[in-house]
Amino acid sequence: MLSQLLGTFSARNWPAKLAEPYAPLQTAVAYSSPKRYHVGKRANLAPGHLPVTLENEQDTSLTRSVACGGVVRKARDAAQQVRNARRIEHAMDPTQLVVAYCERLDGAFWAEPANAVSNLAFFMTTGGIFWVLLRKRRLDLPVIGLSTLVAVIGVSSFLFHTLATPLTSALDILSIAIFILAVFFFAILRLFKVGLTGATLVTVGFLGLSWLLSLLLGPILGVSAMYIGPLLSLFAIALSIAPNNRKIALGFFMTGLMFALSVTFLTMDQQFCDLFPIGTHFMWHVLNAVVAYMLLRLVIYAKQKHQPAPTHPA
Ligand SMILES: [Zn+2]
Repeated sequence: MLSQLLGTFSARNWPAKLAEPYAPLQTAVAYSSPKRYHVGKRANLAPGHLPVTLENEQDTSLTRSVACGGVVRKARDAAQQVRNARRIEHAMDPTQLVVAYCERLDGAFWAEPANAVSNLAFFMTTGGIFWVLLRKRRLDLPVIGLSTLVAVIGVSSFLFHTLATPLTSALDILSIAIFILAVFFFAILRLFKVGLTGATLVTVGFLGLSWLLSLLLGPILGVSAMYIGPLLSLFAIALSIAPNNRKIALGFFMTGLMFALSVTFLTMDQQFCDLFPIGTHFMWHVLNAVVAYMLLRLVIYAKQKHQPAPTHPA
């Protein structure tokens, strides 16, 4: 069944005029979301031969050809199965090039200058938080760890937007995911009196709900779907803490608004390529660095609020 479906994926099914200029890209496949992520063979991807049109056409033709045989929903599931199979196959191949953003027109190292350079913002966040801790003469180990993770995000994201391989893509997503989970854990631990076990359980619940939301919203929002859980969690924390501490609640609310704007830029990148050739992805980096800074300030502040005042011997 699967091999039959994979057969429909061949270049023969593409309209001839579309397939011809993209012939070297016969193995181009949808990487994550058919509209946003594309993988082509690094060696064959020439400037101007972006597989975007091809990908969308390929995807529609696949869905269409399978749909002839049965119910549309079944056809969509089948198409998804093929995409998943291809995704796994290609995610393992480090020679593949991930063409996911407006900026990238070829396989060059500096093909995404704005996306690559904007990662400097993450290092500014790390430096800024270290400066805050130094000024406060505070050895806050969790915050030092979290700030270091922000720098790791900067490095991973820089590697992804220059080397553009599935491996660096995974590194980029993984570093962001670890930071989100870690900062969520420490926020819960410091804001609510739940203890280590309580904070761990809440974080596991948060991970499960976020994963569920990303599955539900994936078909609509693509890669942005995985950030809807974290976005909603900022507002949920704001609401839960509001009766006890309005200042921290306002902080989380403002951070939520900032992250909503950031996710909007992440989602818009491919939509406005014609109007704005460098795309909007670099703003996702800049605003995320701001969001990380705001969150870490809140985590530092939460610790101060819950620490007993130092007692001096009489
Ligand atoms: Zn990025």
